[in-house]
Amino acid sequence: MPVSGLGAYDPDNVFARILRGEIPCRRVFEDDHVLAFHDIRPLAPVHVLVIPKRPYVSFADFSARAGDAEIAGFTRALGRIAATLGLDEAGYRVLSNMGADAGQEVPHFHVHLFGGAPLGPMLAPG
Ligand code: AMP
Repeated sequence: MPVSGLGAYDPDNVFARILRGEIPCRRVFEDDHVLAFHDIRPLAPVHVLVIPKRPYVSFADFSARAGDAEIAGFTRALGRIAATLGLDEAGYRVLSNMGADAGQEVPHFHVHLFGGAPLGPMLAPG
């Protein structure tokens, strides 16, 4: 059973449909465990989403249930993707919204990778 307040994994969420090829995406990277693609509503010059191929609803779920090799593979892929996009020198931001208070919209675990310009403060004050 998934971990987090988001309930059971919805196999028809938009990222599940991208993984099945039912919805197109602008792919950046893919291996056996990970897919990365450009966000459809970019919030920075570089805004890429990195997702595991297996069904986890959130970071809480992924961190609790994914295997060590899967977590290591995901983390290394994330670093490689950022490097390949040329972000290492100037820097970048990695962010994952988990659950209601974070405003998670898509219930398939994903990490946002932002870069390409100064990104400003981490959160708006207040
Ligand atoms: P979150 O609020 O963390 O769940 O972020 C979900 C992200 O998915 C948002 O930044 C959306 O713009 C993005 N998104 C939604 N549908 C698509 C899609 N079909 N292709 C690429 N990105 C998408």
